[in-house]
Amino acid sequence: MKTFFLKSELIKELNLLSKDQKTVGLVPTMGALHQGHVSLVKQCAFENDVVIVSIFVNPTQFNNSGDLEKYPRDLERDQNFLKNRVDKPLLIFAPEVNEMYSEELESVNYDFQGLENEMEGEFRPGHFDGVATIVSKLFEVVGPDKAYFGEKDYQQLLIIKRMVEILKIPVTIVPCRIFRENDGLAMSSRNERLTDRQRAVAPLIYQVLKSAKSRFGTENATVINDWVQRQFMEEPLLELEYFTIADSETLQSIKEKEDNNKYRAFIAVFAGDVRLIDNIALN
Ligand code: AMP
Repeated sequence: MKTFFLKSELIKELNLLSKDQKTVGLVPTMGALHQGHVSLVKQCAFENDVVIVSIFVNPTQFNNSGDLEKYPRDLERDQNFLKNRVDKPLLIFAPEVNEMYSEELESVNYDFQGLENEMEGEFRPGHFDGVATIVSKLFEVVGPDKAYFGEKDYQQLLIIKRMVEILKIPVTIVPCRIFRENDGLAMSSRNERLTDRQRAVAPLIYQVLKSAKSRFGTENATVINDWVQRQFMEEPLLELEYFTIADSETLQSIKEKEDNNKYRAFIAVFAGDVRLIDNIALN
């Protein structure tokens, strides 16, 4: 396992590998790695000859400077965490901010045909331009055959697929299922920042999603939405930012479902200043 801090050094290493026709998979992360990330890394190793894990806390996707500052960073811990996880060569790419951006920290303004305005886009303006900008830069450096993204950030996954179409990048985007703690809480680097009391009530998020799924057979979206709002009113440690039932492809919220369409429920909740998101396929 080797760690690279410079694009030029990583590219040199990748050029050596490409002479041997090795396939390269990329797992982009912001570090503070957990088992959810490891599941992506394992899938990547299963499907490729070489695994690249990028670790970069991308400033342009944070619309809240406090969240950016408090984001957990510990490269040494992440390096140890990745040791011996896979039986393929694993390269870590952990650049400094000035290796990826000029001083202006500019992100590209994309037109994702409405995907960027829903949910996370509404509550985190500019977030997806920042995500797409850094992922396209990583794709440019690594030139991966496949890249792995978690359904935990389902909207991000659709945005990346759309970006790859817009920029005509020859990479296959592989969706990976959500990895959860035993009590159902979706694994997230932000979970580390929960107090014991917040952590104890946080599984309500997934419980509500599972109930929404079972109610979806018989109740309409508005009724389910009202029910979800009430569940969070009864839990003072968690503040619901949004809950919505949306079309899985367009991400447009619905009131009534139609036959043959696929839907998901999406949720964002604050526990103090820690923001947690999750989602579930409904049909
Ligand atoms: P992050 O470090 O939070 O930017 O996440 C890096 C990648 O890991 C993204 O594609 C996430 O969707 C994915 N990921 C994060 N948490 C999970 C999880 N609990 N299950 C599956 N994938 C995840």
